Amino acid sequence: MCASCNSNYEDLNHIFFECSFAIQVWKSAGMWFDVQHAAMQTDSAVEAIFYLLRNLSVKLNQRFAALCWSLWKHRNLKIWEDVTELSAVVVDRARVRCYSSAAHVTASCWPAAAFCHGSADHVAAIECPYKHCCSAVETAKSREV
Ligand SMILES: [Zn+2]
Repeated sequence: MCASCNSNYEDLNHIFFECSFAIQVWKSAGMWFDVQHAAMQTDSAVEAIFYLLRNLSVKLNQRFAALCWSLWKHRNLKIWEDVTELSAVVVDRARVRCYSSAAHVTASCWPAAAFCHGSADHVAAIECPYKHCCSAVETAKSREV
């Protein structure tokens, strides 16, 4: 039983490539085109993952790996702690993961839609657990100016 949707089965292929929740996450992160292509070119989830890791740029590799990790964490939170998350939270967690690493530039090129932008509305609406990243964004912005 999939923890993210009403599907009756859960395998790697479903969790990462077929689940409507996962597809929403890939779309929010601007990666669905690449991910869908990889899934269609290959016969298994593992092959698709390695296909992507071979063919994506370094920047997108990092994003892809962070999103896989975040999707898996989302699944475990639901199963073991009964925590329900929105897809935006899954994307934000991955983005913060990339963000806290060396290159702020990497994070700034992610699509803005799903990112924690620090407004009071946003933080309240999705109970954003990544409020700390907002100050990092502000710091990065002030550096650019
Ligand atoms: Zn599912």
